Amino acid sequence: MGTPAEERFDRVTRLARRMFGLPTACIDIVGEKLVWLKSVQGFDGLERMRKDTYCHYTIQDDGVCLIRDTRLDPRVHTGDPYWDWIFYAGAPLHFEGERVGVLCVGDDKPRDFTPEQVESLIDLAALAGQELQVAALSEAQLALARANEELEMKTRIDVLTHLWNRRAILELATIEMTRADHAPVAILMIDIDHFKSINDRLGHPAGDRVLRVVAERLRAGIRPMDAVGRFGGEEFLAILSGIDGVEALNVAERVRRQVARSTIAFDGHRIPVTCSIGLALSARPDDAESLIRRADQALYRAKRAGRNRVAIAPRAR
Ligand code: GH3
Ligand code: MG
Ligand code: MG
Repeated sequence: MGTPAEERFDRVTRLARRMFGLPTACIDIVGEKLVWLKSVQGFDGLERMRKDTYCHYTIQDDGVCLIRDTRLDPRVHTGDPYWDWIFYAGAPLHFEGERVGVLCVGDDKPRDFTPEQVESLIDLAALAGQELQVAALSEAQLALARANEELEMKTRIDVLTHLWNRRAILELATIEMTRADHAPVAILMIDIDHFKSINDRLGHPAGDRVLRVVAERLRAGIRPMDAVGRFGGEEFLAILSGIDGVEALNVAERVRRQVARSTIAFDGHRIPVTCSIGLALSARPDDAESLIRRADQALYRAKRAGRNRVAIAPRAR
C-alpha cells in the first residue's frame, strides 16, 4: 500500500474538495500502527501514528465519522497534522471486503454536514475503493509485463493481437486464483464462431484481420482492470477479478455484443463475426486449471446450443 501518489486518487480528492467547497481533502491508507496519505489536497501531508488521527476512529465501522468542532473532541490532541482541521468528515474505504483507509475532508472552522453531503462522501469513498481495486489489479499486470524487461515481455505478448499470450494469461489466472485475499474470480473462455470458414473463403490474411479486430473488441467489452489473452488459435481467455456472478454475466454479454457489433471490412468484403462464451466463477481459492476447464465445458455447451451466446458453468462441487 505504500505506493506513490497516483492521479486516479488525486481525481477523487479534488472532486471531494470541490463538491463540498472545503479547503482540504485526503485519502488515507490505515495500517496497523501508521497512516499513510495516498492523496492530499490543500495541506502538506505526513505519515502519522494511527492513534493520533481521526481515521483511527473512522475505520472502526462502516459509518461516516463527523466531527463538527475537533477542539471539543478529546480523542485526538495536538501533534496531529489535523490540528488545524476544526471540522472533520471521514468515510471508510473498502478494498476486497475490508476497511483499509479513509476518505476525509476538513475545514478550519466548525461546520455541519447535511444527510445528502454524508451520502456524497460515502459515494466518493466507494469510488476511491474501486480505484484501489483497479490499482491493485493493474499493478499485478504491470509487474508481470515488466518482469525481466523487454525480452521477457515479448515472450508474454501475442504478436498478432497484442493481447497476453497463452503463457502469460495462464500465469495471471494462477496469480489471481491464489491471492491470499482471494476475491471471487470469473473466467471467460471465448471462441470465434465458424472461424475456419473465414479462412477457407477469404484466405488466412482475412482470418488474421478478424483476430486483430476481435481482440480490440474484447478489450472494449471487459472492464479496464480485467486481463484478456489469446489462449489458442481463435480462442481467448479473460480473467475478471473481484466480481459476482451477476456482474460477470453482464460483462460476458457485453463482450459477446461487442464482438458481434458490426461486420469487419476486409478487401471489399464485410465479414460478419460472432463468438461463443463459457463462463465459470470461483468464490474461493481454487486452481486455475480446473476453473478454466469448467469455462471450456460451458463454452462447448454454448456452441452446441447454437453459438453467439454465453453459457454458465455449473457451480463447482
Ligand atoms: P466453431 O464455431 O465450432 O468454433 O468453429 P471454428 O471454425 O471457429 O473452429 P475450428 O476449431 O474448426 O477452426 C479454427 C481455425 O482457426 C482453424 C485454424 O486454421 C484457424 N487458425 C488458428 N490460428 C490462426 C491464425 O493465427 N490465423 C488464422 N487466419 N487462422 C488461424
Ligand atoms: Mg471457433
Ligand atoms: Mg476453437
